[in-house]
Amino acid sequence: MARSCTICGKKISLFSPALILKDGSICKDCFSKIGLTGSFSDNSWAQRQNSNELKSLIEKGDSIDTKAENATFKLSLKKSKAKVNQEVADERERNNKNYQDILSTFNNDNAQKFDKYLFDSNKQQVLKKRTLLDNEYKLISYSDIVNYTPIQRGEKIHKQHTLTRAVIGNELAGSVGAIVGAVSGGKDFEYVNKLGVIVNVKDNSTFSIYFITTKTKKGALLDMAFDNFDQICALLDGIIDSNRLNIKIGKDDPFEKIKKYKELLDNNIISQEEFEAKKKQLLNL
Ligand SMILES: [Zn+2]
Repeated sequence: MARSCTICGKKISLFSPALILKDGSICKDCFSKIGLTGSFSDNSWAQRQNSNELKSLIEKGDSIDTKAENATFKLSLKKSKAKVNQEVADERERNNKNYQDILSTFNNDNAQKFDKYLFDSNKQQVLKKRTLLDNEYKLISYSDIVNYTPIQRGEKIHKQHTLTRAVIGNELAGSVGAIVGAVSGGKDFEYVNKLGVIVNVKDNSTFSIYFITTKTKKGALLDMAFDNFDQICALLDGIIDSNRLNIKIGKDDPFEKIKKYKELLDNNIISQEEFEAKKKQLLNL
């Protein structure tokens, strides 16, 4: 395809010398005006220019030392790369420091540890710790935990596959206190190959905490895993119940709130003492 010079408009035939710009080509007549010969150095310089820039250079008529220009360009490229590298390193260091600060506050609070997750009841937050394979840490607020699915996979002594734990109901009355202790424990299992929980978070993300991921026979190791499993289930039940209570009772005026607490009292979800305490608090007695 025939090219035209972007400066003077003349056709440039296939075999005549030309310099390729970012947005066109220029003919030999034009590039000679600024002292170029079509050398390798001229070519690599031209690739970084556009027609308008070249037009004004040709109008000025100054000779361009493309070797010097290229050297300067390389140097500035090198400098900006070094700057980016430094910024990345700085960012990594800031991130490291943030993580270490957060981690130490969780440790100071004696957060409960399950696999790589720390549950801090003071902060009402979960910290997903960094691991060798995963440098990302994450904070999850207790109030963002929606529900969870217990995972127990293995083979029972009586050769029944899988045991499903009671599913948490949506009814407030059915959920408070009803779930803790519902797990059968590891006693019935001959071996277990998966044990843990999948936790659902408000933003539709999930995270999983596993205590057993390979076939494990009955014994101390499995007992310990089931202890951890029971603990995390109890903890999550508590978090989820308290989130539900907050949603149910959050926005109303004091009188409406007292009515709701009365309902909870009538359904034996809270005790008379708890109800009286709440009532006093809400009426400023
Ligand atoms: Zn031309």
